[in-house]
Amino acid sequence: MSNPSGIPVPNAASDAPTTLDVQRIREDFPALHQQVNGKPLVYLDSAATTQKPLSVIQAVRQYYEKDNSNVHRGVHTLSARATESYETARIKVQRFINAADAREIIFVRGATEGINLVANSYGRKHIRAGDELLITAMEHHSNIVPWQLLCEEKDAHLRVAPINERGEVVLESYEKLITDRTKLVAITYISNSLGTINPVKEMIELAHRRRVPVLVDGAQAGPHLPLDVQEIGCDFLVVSGHKMYAPTGIGALYGKLELLESMPPYQGGGEMIQSVTFEKTTYNDVPHKFEAGTPNIADAVGFGAAIDYLNALGMQAIAAHEDDLVRCAIAALSAIPGLRFIGTARDRAAVVSFTIENIHPHDIGTILDQEGIAIRTGHHCSQPVMDRFGVPATSRASFGLYNTHAEIDSLVAGIYKAKELFSLE
Ligand code: PMP
Repeated sequence: MSNPSGIPVPNAASDAPTTLDVQRIREDFPALHQQVNGKPLVYLDSAATTQKPLSVIQAVRQYYEKDNSNVHRGVHTLSARATESYETARIKVQRFINAADAREIIFVRGATEGINLVANSYGRKHIRAGDELLITAMEHHSNIVPWQLLCEEKDAHLRVAPINERGEVVLESYEKLITDRTKLVAITYISNSLGTINPVKEMIELAHRRRVPVLVDGAQAGPHLPLDVQEIGCDFLVVSGHKMYAPTGIGALYGKLELLESMPPYQGGGEMIQSVTFEKTTYNDVPHKFEAGTPNIADAVGFGAAIDYLNALGMQAIAAHEDDLVRCAIAALSAIPGLRFIGTARDRAAVVSFTIENIHPHDIGTILDQEGIAIRTGHHCSQPVMDRFGVPATSRASFGLYNTHAEIDSLVAGIYKAKELFSLE
C-alpha cells in the first residue's frame, strides 16, 4: 500500500514557486468576494477555519455527481471509483506529511477526533495508575481534555510544562518533567491562541531519550509550514482538513505503523473487522481497523484536492507569505496606543492575539464585523493560556495564504474606529 501501482498521485511539488501571486489566488476563493455589512469581506479568521478554493468545492461536487458509492465493499464500477478516490486521498495525505507508508494515515473527523482516538486506544492500553502524561501550558482544549478523561479513568496524572511571558515553552522545565513515570507527551506544533511555533523536533528528541512516545497536534501547522513526520520523528500527529482549505468533518491521524498495529480498535462496526461471529471477532488491518463504519468519502476527496492546491502553491511560499503578513501586522498594530500583544514568541506563525485597553475583545470583534472584518474573539479553546496571561479573552487575527497587506490596513483602521467609538462613550 505504500507504493500502490496504478494510482497516480502527484508528489509534493519541489518545483513549486517561491512566492505567491495573491491577487490571482484570491480568484480561486468564491467566499472572499462578498460584502459583509455593506463592506468588502476581510477574512482574518483562518486559524478557526479556512475558506475553500473552487478546486476543492468542485472535487466534492464531482464526487457526488459521478462517483458516489460506498467504499471497499462493492465490485461495481462506482464503488471501485469511490474506493480509488478515497485511497488516493490517503496517499496524498501520506506524501504531504512525508509518512513512510499510507497505512499510517487514519481518516478522522479532525484533530480532536485524532487525539481522542489515541487517548482511547493507545492510552487505554498503555496508561496505568500512577503514570504521568505531559502536555504544555499552551494546548488547545482538544489536547487537554481527552488526556484528563484518560487520567481520571486510569488514576494517572497530567503534568503541564510551563510557558514564559513570550508564550514559549520553558524547555528546561519541560525536560525535567519527563521522568520514568511519563508514558506519553502531547504537544502542539503551533499554538492557536499565541501563534508560537514550538521546537517540536527538539522536544520529541528529549522525550525519546526516555523512550516516551510523542503526539504532535498539527492542527495549526498543517496549513502553515511543510510537515515532515519522519524529520521531526513524532509517533503520532493530527491535522484538521478544514484548517487546510479542505471541507469540515475530515482530518487525519498519523501514527507509526508498529504503534498502530499494536493498538486496539477505537470504535467497533463495519469496515474495521476481518470476520465476525457471536463468539469472536477479528479485526481488519490498519488503517481500516480504525475506520469503523462508512467513512467521510467525499470530504476525504476534497482533502486530497486541498493538498494538491497547497502543493501547487508550495508550502515554503505559503509560509513565507504568511510570515511576511504577521511581521507587517505586528509592526502596524504596535503603533496603536493601549494595544497589548498576547504571545510574542520569537518563532511564530500566522496568528496575532491582542487586547486593547478598556475595550472588551467581544466589542472589538463586533465593531470590526460592522466594517466587514472577521476576526475571532474569546478564549480560543485555550482557557489555561488566558489564565496564564491574566486576561479573560483576546482578539485574534489570523492569516491564510489569500490575505493581503491592504487587509492589515483595514484591520488597523477598524481598531482605531473602535477606540474612537469607545472614547466617545
Ligand atoms: N488543536 C489546535 C491547535 C487547534 O487550533 C484546533 C482548532 N481550533 C484543534 C486542535 C481542534 O481542531 P478541530 O476542531 O478541527 O478538531
